[in-house]
Amino acid sequence: MTVWFASDLHLDPTTPDISARFQRFLSGPARGARALFLLGDLFEAWIGDDDPEPAHRKVTDSIAAVAAAGTKVFVMRGNRDFMIGERFCAGSGATLLDDPSILTLVGERVLLTHGDGLCVDDRPYQRLRALVRDPVIRADLAQLPIDARRRLATQARADSREHHANTESYISDVNQAAVETLLDDAGVSLMIHGHTHRPAVHRFRSGGEDRTRVVLGAWHDAADVVRWDDSGWQLLPCPV
Ligand code: MN
Repeated sequence: MTVWFASDLHLDPTTPDISARFQRFLSGPARGARALFLLGDLFEAWIGDDDPEPAHRKVTDSIAAVAAAGTKVFVMRGNRDFMIGERFCAGSGATLLDDPSILTLVGERVLLTHGDGLCVDDRPYQRLRALVRDPVIRADLAQLPIDARRRLATQARADSREHHANTESYISDVNQAAVETLLDDAGVSLMIHGHTHRPAVHRFRSGGEDRTRVVLGAWHDAADVVRWDDSGWQLLPCPV
């Protein structure tokens, strides 16, 4: 049994190298695996399942191929691709995963989240997050013409870059108390998330337990992924 976890690929037509690497990953390590979990920001921008962008279509088809070959594929929305919907899932054969979700693997429970909800010190970001997670607002956005959505996404990315350039590093990282509260509420001692682009294994003690927070990498930087098999889990550089 092998299960893969990856996040923050930020696939985009302007970065064909990353798309090619993901294609290699899908046709290599992901083939024959039991499952692949994509924990958010698979796409740099996903303005809706009706976007005719050919590069996105290619990704959808490639995921469909690995799913058809027997690997269960799960997709969680991130802050860049929060408009991923049922039509994408139907086309790709992927199952949409709630954020957070709890999974049991080889007898161990693990909490999966994109991770942006843990960055509570970044108040302006959390206000934006609350907006785009509102189903009514999502439905309104989906009604806009494609070109208008594309302009909004471009503006949002520019705003995000400016925000991060003016925000201290600790503010855009997860808040430890938020991490511990989420684990307490779920009764889980292990979490895997992405979003912060700071791949690492953090071990700490809280709630009377030894706990671990595993952070996946961003594919334009250190594309660290998690491989979980019968001998346990490991954070490692993407093997292709
Ligand atoms: Mn993110």
